[in-house]
Amino acid sequence: MLTHFIGGEPVAAGKAFPVHDPVTGAVVRQVHEADPEVVDRAVRAAREAARDWAALPVGERAGWMRRLAEGIEARFDDLVAAEIADTGKSFDQTRTLDIPRGIANFRAFAEIAAQRPDDAFHLSGTLSYTVRRPLGVVGVIVPWNLPFLLMTWKLAPALVSGNTVVVKPSEQTPGSAAVFAEICADAGLPPGVVNIIFGHGPVGQLLVEHPDVNGVTFTGSTRTGTAIMITAADRVKPISFELGGKNAGLIFEDCDLDRAVEGAVKSVFTNGGQVCLCTERLYVQRSIFEEFCARLAVRAQEVDLQPMISAEHREKVLSYYALARSEGAKVLAGGGVPLFGDHRDSGYFVEPTVVTGLSEWSRFNREEIFGPVCHVAPFDSEAEAIDLANGSDYGLAATLWTTSLDRAHRVAQRLEAGLVWVNTWYLRDLRTPFGGVKLSGIGREGGTRSLDFYSEPTTITIKL
Ligand code: NAD
Repeated sequence: MLTHFIGGEPVAAGKAFPVHDPVTGAVVRQVHEADPEVVDRAVRAAREAARDWAALPVGERAGWMRRLAEGIEARFDDLVAAEIADTGKSFDQTRTLDIPRGIANFRAFAEIAAQRPDDAFHLSGTLSYTVRRPLGVVGVIVPWNLPFLLMTWKLAPALVSGNTVVVKPSEQTPGSAAVFAEICADAGLPPGVVNIIFGHGPVGQLLVEHPDVNGVTFTGSTRTGTAIMITAADRVKPISFELGGKNAGLIFEDCDLDRAVEGAVKSVFTNGGQVCLCTERLYVQRSIFEEFCARLAVRAQEVDLQPMISAEHREKVLSYYALARSEGAKVLAGGGVPLFGDHRDSGYFVEPTVVTGLSEWSRFNREEIFGPVCHVAPFDSEAEAIDLANGSDYGLAATLWTTSLDRAHRVAQRLEAGLVWVNTWYLRDLRTPFGGVKLSGIGREGGTRSLDFYSEPTTITIKL
C-alpha cells in the first residue's frame, strides 16, 4: 500500500483506493487517500522546513538537485517499472523520455539557478538591485500522462529557488512519485523539503485552499485549472498553469512529404495521443491532401498501441469517435476498439484514428480529445492555414512542415501558440519558455521563467 511522505517519513493514513493497470484493467496497487488532517500535516511539515531551506546558499541547493538526479539514476529501473505499471507506456518511451527527463530537469535547473545573475540598475545617483526570495510553501499538482517528467519539471525549479513543496500526483499514477519519496529520504534531503500526498481531486482542492500554501503550480485540464483559479483567488495566490491543447499541424506543399508524414504520426499518436502537445487538427495544402491522407491512414494502422489511462478516459475518447460519425465524418483509419485475443482485451485500448470531412465548428474539432486521433482538412493559401490554426480556444503548441525558410519564419510568428515547431515536434531545450495562450494556460515555465515564478523579487534602491 503506498503511503504519503511527510516530514521525511512514510505516513499511512486515510482510506485505501486502487490503481489499475491500463493494459489489463487489473488492480496494480492500493494507495492511501489523504484526508484534511494529512493535507494539513504535510503543509505544516513544509512550513517548518521552509526557513532553513531558503537560508541555504543557492549553490548548496543546486548541489542537492544534483544529488537527487544521481538518486534517480540509481533507482532508474524501479522508476521505469512504476511508471509503466500505472500508465501502460512502452518500455522504450519510459526508458528514453520519461525518466531521463526527470534527471535532466534536476541537472538543468541546478545549472540555471546557480549561474543566474541578479539585476542591478545604476541611474543618476541611485543604485537599484533586486533580490529574489522564495514563495515559501508551493503546492504542486500534476496529471497522469507524463507523471514523473511533469512532477520533476516543477519540483526542480521550485526547490532550487528555495521553496519547500507539497506534491499531489494524479490519483491514477502515484507509483513513480512514491519511488521519488524514497529517493529523497535515501539522499538525506532535509525532512519536510519535499512532501508527497496521494488522493483524488478534492485533496488537490484542500492543498490549494490551505492558508499556508503560498503558490500553486498546476499541470492538467483547463476545467480543473478554472476550479483552482477560483479557489486560489481568495488569497490571491500566485498560480502557474499548463493546461489543455487542441494543437494544429500545418503541412505545406513545399514540405518534405516523407518527413511530414512521419512527423504527423509522431505528433498525433505518441503516448496514445495523451500528451498536451499532441496534434489533433491537421491542415494540409490541397495539392498534396489526398496523398498525405492516404499515407497517414496507412501509418495509423501500423503504430504501436498504447492504452488510454482508464476505462473512463477510453469511454470519453470513444464518445468522440461516435460523435465524428454522427457529425458526418469520413473515417480514414481506426474508429473502434482493437481486438487482441489475449489479456489486453480487458485493458483500455482504442484504435489510432484519422477522420476528415468535419466542419471547423464541430465539437470534434473544438474540444480536446486527448487520444490517438486527428482530423485532417485541406487548405488553399498560407493566410487560410494561419486562420484555421488560430481558430481555436486553445493555444499551446503548433507544428509546421515546409522547406521554405521565409514561410517557416513568417507563419511561425503569426501562430497563436506558446510553442511552434518547424519540421519537428516535441524537441525541447529546457532553458526556453514553455506554456500556452488562451485556454492553454497562464504564465510560462522553463529556464529562468520557472525561477521567476517560484520566487518574488524585492527591489532595493539606495541613494548614492
Ligand atoms: P485533471 O485536470 O483531471 O487532473 C490533474 C490533477 O489535478 C490531478 O492530480 C487531479 O487529482 C487534480 N485535481 C482535480 N480536481 C482538482 C481540484 N478541484 N483542485 C485541485 N486539484 C484537482 O487532468 P488529467 O486528466 O490528469 O490530465 C490531462 C490534462 O492535462 C489534459 O487536459 C492535458 O492537456 C493536460 N496537460 C497539460 C500539459 C501542459 O504542459 N500544458 C501537460 C500535460 C497534460
